[in-house]
Amino acid sequence: MKNTLGTTSIMLALVSVAACSSGQDEGREEQKKHAAAPSVEQHSGDTGDKDKEHAVAHWGYEGAGGPQHWGDLKEEFAFCKTGKKQSPIDISTSAVSKADLPAIEFHYQEAPLSMVNNGHTIQVNYPAGSSIKVGDATYELLQFHFHAPSEHTVDGKPFAMVAHLVHKSAEGNLGVVGVLMKEGNSNPALEPLWKVMPKQSGEKVDSKDITVSASALLPEDRSYYSYSGSLTTPPCSEGVSWMVLKNPVEVSTEQVAALAALFGNNARPVQELHDRTVSAN
Ligand SMILES: [Zn+2]
Repeated sequence: MKNTLGTTSIMLALVSVAACSSGQDEGREEQKKHAAAPSVEQHSGDTGDKDKEHAVAHWGYEGAGGPQHWGDLKEEFAFCKTGKKQSPIDISTSAVSKADLPAIEFHYQEAPLSMVNNGHTIQVNYPAGSSIKVGDATYELLQFHFHAPSEHTVDGKPFAMVAHLVHKSAEGNLGVVGVLMKEGNSNPALEPLWKVMPKQSGEKVDSKDITVSASALLPEDRSYYSYSGSLTTPPCSEGVSWMVLKNPVEVSTEQVAALAALFGNNARPVQELHDRTVSAN
C-alpha cells in the first residue's frame, strides 16, 4: 500500500506540460515546481511558502494571475506584455489576403492515450511518429489540448471551443494547428477522452487500451488561415507559425461544459495585430 502511494506521488511529480509550450521554458519551470511539490506537502512548515508563491507568481485566467498581468508576473513572461506578434488574434475575413499557401499534409498515427490535466487545460501527449508537412517544413506533433471558448475569433466571434495541435520542427520552430469547434453534435473524437478526463490538476491518465487519433479531430476541408504569432500562454514566446483551419467541427454543449467545469474560461483574449497580415488559401 505504501509503495503504491509512493509511486503515485512520483508519477504526479513528473507530470506537467504547459499548454501551448511543450518543451519550452514554462514546461521546465513547471516540472521543477511540481517535482518539489510532494516534499513540500510532507513538510507542513513549507505550505505557507507554497501558497505565497502560488498567489504571487502563478498565472491563470482571472484575478491577479490573469492575462492582463501575465507580463508582470515574471521577467520571463515579458513578451506577454511587450510582444508585437502575440496570439490569439481576431481574424477579420475581409482583411485576410488570399495566398497560394501550401496545403497542410497531415501524417498522424493512432497512439495510446496519454492525457494530463496540467491545471490550465486537458492535454493529450503524442509519441514520436506523427507529423505535418507544410511546403518544405516538417513539424512533429507533440500534443494537443483545448480551450473554451476558442482563443482565435473570426470576425469578432469566438467559437465554443478549440483544439490546438502543437508541433515542433527539427529546427525547433513551433507550428500550431487550430481546429475551431462550434456547438452541435457530440464530437466522436472527444467521447473516449472526455470519459476518462482527469479532474485534478497534475492528474494523468495513461492507457494502452484507449487509442487516440489526432486525425479524427480534423474537418474534411483543411484550408486555413496563416500568420506568425506566439504561444497563447506564458511565456508568450513568439515565432509560432499559426495555422487556424477555416472550417469548424462540431462539439456538444455537454462536451464544452465538461471542460469549462474544470477550467472555467481558459482562453487568452485576442491581441493586437500590429503590422501583421493574415493569409489564407
Ligand atoms: Zn492552446
